[in-house]
Amino acid sequence: MTTLSAVRDALVPGVLDQERQHLAHNYHPLELVVATGSGATVTDTDGVEYLDFLAAYSATNFGHRHPALIAAAKRQLDRVTLTSRAFHNDQLGPFAAALAELIGKDMVLPMNTGAEAVESGIKVARKWGYEVKGVPDGQAKIIVASGNFHGRTTTIISFSDDDSARAGFGPYTPGFITVPYGDLGALRAAITDDVVAVLLEPIQGEGGVVIPPADYLPGVRELTRTHNVLFIADEIQSGLGRTGTTLACQHVGVEADVYLLGKALGGGIVPVSAVLANSDILGVLQPGQHGSTFGGNPLACAVGHAVVELLSTGEFQDRAAALGVRMRARLDQMIGSGVLKVRSRGLWAGIDIDPRLGTGREVCERLASHGVLAKDTHGSTIRLAPPIVITEAQLDRGLDQLERVLTELGSR
Ligand SMILES: *Cc1c(COP(=O)(O)O)cnc(C)c1O
Repeated sequence: MTTLSAVRDALVPGVLDQERQHLAHNYHPLELVVATGSGATVTDTDGVEYLDFLAAYSATNFGHRHPALIAAAKRQLDRVTLTSRAFHNDQLGPFAAALAELIGKDMVLPMNTGAEAVESGIKVARKWGYEVKGVPDGQAKIIVASGNFHGRTTTIISFSDDDSARAGFGPYTPGFITVPYGDLGALRAAITDDVVAVLLEPIQGEGGVVIPPADYLPGVRELTRTHNVLFIADEIQSGLGRTGTTLACQHVGVEADVYLLGKALGGGIVPVSAVLANSDILGVLQPGQHGSTFGGNPLACAVGHAVVELLSTGEFQDRAAALGVRMRARLDQMIGSGVLKVRSRGLWAGIDIDPRLGTGREVCERLASHGVLAKDTHGSTIRLAPPIVITEAQLDRGLDQLERVLTELGSR
């Protein structure tokens, strides 16, 4: 008789073999195969439980299978899932109204992935530049920051300075100017009459949770307002509760003209992204000029609407802020014992590991063997972003394991 575990043992190498043979090698995942997830934990095919300290790059901010989100999805699965925008559906209007209210803008452009929201923001800014600002046709420029991550399309990688994301994929889309992140003087110097927008992450996520100087975003706001340039904030990773506020821009009292949202907007269930702005900006789009077959589909809207409802009480934002203080205190204690530097906002931290201990990848591999999943970025930085539903005990347990791994590596 075949036992369940024997089936599993046969299955897992099979899964990895199938991936090696048939899956494009554009990722290098840790060697575990997730089978189920719940709240802040996932379980692998051997039944081993892990604490998830990555939360799918903040796409599962509300944990795996949050009951309210799963219920919303199930309800909608039994009604209708896709209509295309050729017809109205009864979920899109209510979702747009609720999201617009949460973010404080009057219009929503629904898309699917984060990269599509960025692409859409770029198109809207260019059109606004020609039709409203009066930039000569074809001349629009958008200023971006060094160290940015905005996605993986050909246009977006055209203004990336990460060589592995960019090299070999040209020719590149023109119309972008890169200035150092956090440097207001450089931004001021780069603004010409043809500049239509400044596109920034208020905190750079893939860059390693890089927080700009406190006067930077207010300075960007001031400069863009003075020069009639749109300020586009990519809050795809920083937004929707992660940093202790609905939007990371709110920490410094800044309101951007255009917000790009994604990741957590889909509740970890379906890809949902959106561009938000007032009608003087998003109103430049007319029928036929932009679209998406799946954008605004009823299933996405039902889930996105449930996400907005979770965020509307402020409970998750407060929880991220409080847990963030707890996490930061522990991480600060690790400085000098394997950690060189800690940057954090809310429940989101980037820690620079002392390279003498090993690479970020090695730390993450060891952490996984102790039941905690995290992800390295840029060599020796580790990003911690547990689901906001994580309990204090789970958070402490994960940080205990991080401390243990650093001690182990430090005494090699
Ligand atoms: C993840 C991310 C994107 C791209 O989102 P996808 O859904 O992967 O296309 C864009 N901007 C930021 C800041 C991100 O973190």
